[in-house]
Amino acid sequence: MPPCLFCKIVNKELSSEIVYESEKSLVFKDIHPKADFHVLIVPKKHIESANRLEFEDKDLIMEMFLTAKEVALQNQLGGYKLIINVGRKAGQLIDHLHLHLLAGKIKEIV
Ligand code: AMP
Ligand code: ZN
Repeated sequence: MPPCLFCKIVNKELSSEIVYESEKSLVFKDIHPKADFHVLIVPKKHIESANRLEFEDKDLIMEMFLTAKEVALQNQLGGYKLIINVGRKAGQLIDHLHLHLLAGKIKEIV
């Protein structure tokens, strides 16, 4: 299997601007921000995409959404968008599940 960029970031083999870390996920700034505030909520477990989720991943998904809520609270975001691209045709470039959290002025949709 080719090395996964986000697994390397999760394992701290590659640097990133980490804004929050929980037991099951890591949150870091998107390298090409599409909004004033743009971070990625990445589960530590490698799952290719939302299309590969299994029922047993339900706690992980819950944790990702609670993490989004916590990051929004810590950064005093009045409102925010949560986006998951699923598959190339939807714009998914990195094959490791991630939840985009965007707030403030949005330059372009992810
Ligand atoms: P997606 O198109 O939904 O797969 O989103 C992938 C996102 O990862 C894009 O918004 C990229 O800007 C972002 N990205 C790619 N490489 C890195 C990196 N090394 N660190 C942080 N964000 C990255
Ligand atoms: Zn991965």
